[in-house]
Amino acid sequence: MLHLLNHPLGDHVVTHLRDRTTKPATFRTLAYQISLLLAIEATREAETRELTVETPLEAHAGRVLSQSIVLVPILRAGISMVQPFSDLLPNVSVGYIGLERDEQTAIARSYYCKLPALASKRILILDPMLATGGSAIQAIQVVTAQGGALANLSLVSIVSAPEGVSAVEAIDPGIKIYSAALDRELNTRKYILPGLGDFGDRLYGT
Ligand code: URA
Repeated sequence: MLHLLNHPLGDHVVTHLRDRTTKPATFRTLAYQISLLLAIEATREAETRELTVETPLEAHAGRVLSQSIVLVPILRAGISMVQPFSDLLPNVSVGYIGLERDEQTAIARSYYCKLPALASKRILILDPMLATGGSAIQAIQVVTAQGGALANLSLVSIVSAPEGVSAVEAIDPGIKIYSAALDRELNTRKYILPGLGDFGDRLYGT
């Protein structure tokens, strides 16, 4: 199920990310900003518990996060989303999945995987570009094979293509996908149109 970040600040940041004249240093700042906004959106349903604190004036029964959250960035572009998410969610643990896209076939190959315990954790898979859905599906399969529950899992992307959304929903229509933009289509090289180009290249200036 796709949840689009419907917010003027999100539109502003994504438009500057798309701009081909945006340099890597600015691109990294914008990637941080959009990830913060997505972190807010993707944790809207996070579980909380009551905690009573003393304000300077009186006792107050407030609420704090109660469920452990695991971030799973897909290397390499997903790394850019870890800092903003963990700035808002300081008690997260972070697992890594390394997937590399073959430029000819656009099929993802796994070259690294290190995950913390996943049972009963809320899991946020971070992948800035949901294009064919190949990487996201591989990551979902790895995470569920290692004990993560589909019901506790969300995928967070900055830009999504309809093809990728459909491919992820084909695994289970209930999987939550949080994205800042839903673009038109993929081109023949499986890049998102209008998109923003190769996210990792834009981020690292490669
Ligand atoms: N990955 C990217 O970085 N960009 C795309 O358009 C598709 C996949």
